[in-house]
Amino acid sequence: MSIVRLENVSKDYTLGEQQVQALLDITLSIDDGVFLAIAGPSGSGKSTLLNLIGCIDTPSCGKILINGQDVSGRTPDQLSDLRARTIGFIFQTFNLFPVLSAEENVEYPLLQLKELSTSERRDRVSKYLSIVGLSKFARHRPNQLSGGQRQRVAIARALATQPKIVLADEPTANLDHKTGEGILQLMKDINGNFGTTFIFSTHDSRVMEMANRLVHIEDGQIITQEVRDEEKRPTAAGRIA
Ligand code: ADP
Ligand code: MG
Repeated sequence: MSIVRLENVSKDYTLGEQQVQALLDITLSIDDGVFLAIAGPSGSGKSTLLNLIGCIDTPSCGKILINGQDVSGRTPDQLSDLRARTIGFIFQTFNLFPVLSAEENVEYPLLQLKELSTSERRDRVSKYLSIVGLSKFARHRPNQLSGGQRQRVAIARALATQPKIVLADEPTANLDHKTGEGILQLMKDINGNFGTTFIFSTHDSRVMEMANRLVHIEDGQIITQEVRDEEKRPTAAGRIA
């Protein structure tokens, strides 16, 4: 089943007198459990597309289904609830609260899930900090962490609510290549281990390489879509895995 489906989705922005067509007639189905890259140059509409999928923004026309449910016509409260339970976000600039420690940042979205007790919340926080390899840094604030560590906190925060979908807008753009590769590999491991669907944007061809689904967009339109067969791709050593 598709976890995300967009049907004839367009998005216009009005800037003063000008109309900007950010997305034009996008139809796209995203299967549950994929590791999907949205690739395209700057200004092609990647962030707009992720914001629509994440119900942060609404389309000018067309229909969006998340987990089989049409999200148009929902109230802001209903959308906020859907986001809190179904979708995790990772941003290019990490977007951590600077005054909160790593563990408090990870705990933050859990405060919206009223059914969790304090001890369940603490267990989740330590579980996901451990998954991203930061148990020892739980009390550190963001300015006491490296860029890669900050992004790991952001990943733990995105996962803590156990969402079905994680959206990541250019998650490696502010990291050096080696650190970025580590972050991508961590996301990929989580995708493999938990089956969480990852949808991330990038304009870096090395990042695209790691995806098993690739959607190229340009000028707000889908140019190509690729399905990559993991099993048949050559490994780093040049062998067929
Ligand atoms: P990308 O993430 O691929 O760089 P964006 O989705 O941010 O692209 O932007 C797509 C187009 O929409 C660009 O032309 C951009 O200037 C325009 N745009 C994005 N957000 C807004 C906004 N809030 N108001 C007006 N124009 C916008
Ligand atoms: Mg962008």
